[in-house]
Amino acid sequence: MSKKTTIVRGCLKSNKIIYKKNGMIVVYIKRKKTKIRYKMSEIEKKSETLFNEISETHTKIRKRKKKRPSAPVFKPYTQQQMLMLPPSLEELIPQEHMVRVVNKTIDGLNIEPLVATYKGGGSSSYNPLMLLKVLVYAYLTKNYPSRKIAKALREDVNYMWLSGMQKPDFRTINIFRSSRLKVVIDQVFGSMVEFCIANRYIKLENYFVDGTKIEANASKTSYVWSKNTQRYKETTQKKIKELLEHIEEVNRKENEEYGNRDLEELGKETTITSQKIKEQIEKLNTIINPKKAENRALKEIETKQLPKLERYEEQERLLDGRKSYSKTDIDATFFRMKNEQLLPAYNVIIGTENQFIVNYTIHQKASESDQFIRHFTKFIQTTGLTPKNVIGDAAYGSQENYAFLETYGLGNYLKYNTYHKEKTKKHKSDSYHKDHFKYEETTDQYTCPEGRRLVFNRTEERITDNGYQQVNRIYECLDCQGCPVSSLCKKGLGNRTISMNPQLERYRAQARANLASGYGITLRKMRGIDVEPVFGDIKMNQDYKRFRLRGKEKVNVEFGLLSMAHNIKKIALTVH
Ligand code: SF4
Repeated sequence: MSKKTTIVRGCLKSNKIIYKKNGMIVVYIKRKKTKIRYKMSEIEKKSETLFNEISETHTKIRKRKKKRPSAPVFKPYTQQQMLMLPPSLEELIPQEHMVRVVNKTIDGLNIEPLVATYKGGGSSSYNPLMLLKVLVYAYLTKNYPSRKIAKALREDVNYMWLSGMQKPDFRTINIFRSSRLKVVIDQVFGSMVEFCIANRYIKLENYFVDGTKIEANASKTSYVWSKNTQRYKETTQKKIKELLEHIEEVNRKENEEYGNRDLEELGKETTITSQKIKEQIEKLNTIINPKKAENRALKEIETKQLPKLERYEEQERLLDGRKSYSKTDIDATFFRMKNEQLLPAYNVIIGTENQFIVNYTIHQKASESDQFIRHFTKFIQTTGLTPKNVIGDAAYGSQENYAFLETYGLGNYLKYNTYHKEKTKKHKSDSYHKDHFKYEETTDQYTCPEGRRLVFNRTEERITDNGYQQVNRIYECLDCQGCPVSSLCKKGLGNRTISMNPQLERYRAQARANLASGYGITLRKMRGIDVEPVFGDIKMNQDYKRFRLRGKEKVNVEFGLLSMAHNIKKIALTVH
């Protein structure tokens, strides 16, 4: 075919090709090797017939290609099939299934403290061993609500096998979780730690500690702030005082006129409490004539101000030194979370080894440093054991924590808040930082870069929230007058002072040396892959970012069950 040829349409099956050439439309029938030429004017009439012809051929071929569908074949399905022997659930559970690991591990725990919570007499109870297994397996499989657990006990073969076909309802599960386990969960978990040690899953050599905040089951807007409570209380107290003074004034005038009966004054310096106000109202009621004007003031105190004062006192009691609490879960405190949201939450601190949880505690305050001793004391009390070394981030390196480690002879691998800062170039080159002042032990004096002496001036004491006493020694430069570098060294007008805590410095030096050693470097690296992935697993894999129950004790049960489930998962991974 020449280059001027333009193929319009062709069909291989019908062996027809239609193309344009020299102003003509040519239909080439390959089989017959004949060409039929049409003028362009004739095309309009012929083309329709030609294309229809080709299309018909196509349709015929397509129809020929279609196969007839074969008849479907189904596997035999007989619901009412009778079995010679009753089916066993045992056969339905694979040998390496997680539910078997849960069963075996819980069987190996000492649950005597749990059994001891049952009083004799009355109707029979579900076996606490079975309920504990069901709950731990439920937490392992992200099945947290009691109704869902009860449903699984009716429908899920794994739950049915675990419970021996028993079907406790959601109330029974809830009561067991919220009330029964509440008092013994720490002991049951302690038994699991012993189980892990006995089976060599953990050696209790290195204790990695860290904390995280988990949202509470409480409304985000149900906050009570301690500052507001304090302010409102003071306003109410002031108002009550003014009203009482007014009543006193009226009475005083009346007494001058009618007698010398007098009121017992609250006094300006006396703290006004709801109890004192009640006593005062009682006395005033005997004195004041109900028809008199001052009775209105007394009524206002009684009906309006006193309930307010009682409410603020109750709020103060519930705050218990915290900055806030939630009205829907009184034990929860508002914390700034990692996503910058202000949410009611609990501060959870855990200790791990080999990614096994060996201890956990629930706290209501944000500072992990202040909670460490409480956290670790629980571990010692529950297990009666102590690890060799304790490894933690800069949140834990405080003087009282270091002193605690020393008391129990534990390896100090706790970073302090300036650990990373003192390694920076800026710090190293800052010759006016107190760390770079030269100390002479014999004279107990420091020498500044300008060669002037700083002598001991006074001591300053600080008591921590836990009651630990810190003593800082303050040294003051003898004379900073005329120092050419004073703007680089100090801010105030007086002489430069530095605060030193020899005890804390000694602990820090110990921690610094331990952390810089070869083993210390290994432990620092391990911290990131030991304790932190555990929180990752709980929050992401277990999808546990918010507690389901309310109140610190119930939250403690929930995290205990989560920790047990986590450890069993680790056991399963180690075994298989
Ligand atoms: S300001 Fe005082 S302490 Fe600082 S370098 Fe000068 S003399 Fe020394």
